[in-house]
Amino acid sequence: MDCLFCKITEGKIPAKKIFEDDQVLAFHDINPQAPVHFLVIPKKHIATLNDVTEADRELVGHMVYVGQKLALELGCEAGFRTVFNCKEMGSQTVYHIHLHVLGQRQMGWPPG
Ligand code: AMP
Repeated sequence: MDCLFCKITEGKIPAKKIFEDDQVLAFHDINPQAPVHFLVIPKKHIATLNDVTEADRELVGHMVYVGQKLALELGCEAGFRTVFNCKEMGSQTVYHIHLHVLGQRQMGWPPG
């Protein structure tokens, strides 16, 4: 399977890793949109949020929990933004689900 984030998980492509356990990996986004911008991905390949099944519920919850813990460790206690982009209309570009965590600047609403 030709998946960029699977290759990062397998260590075939380098990434600035922040955290790793048996289920997830977190690393800094290569094109940050905020002073803090990292991604939390599952080690399991799941292409889009539409492909999440009931069996993945704990895994996705764990991604959010890890994102929150790391956001606080990286100084985002005043708040931060979390985003899952899903498919074309959601502006997803990498088809392996990832939670964006952005912080250390004021976010706007609605998003673009
Ligand atoms: P999305 O548009 O939600 O699919 O987001 C994909 C994100 O992955 C973008 O913010 C990219 O900057 C980021 N990205 C792409 N390639 C890499 C990479 N090799 N290392 C870290 N982040 C990456």
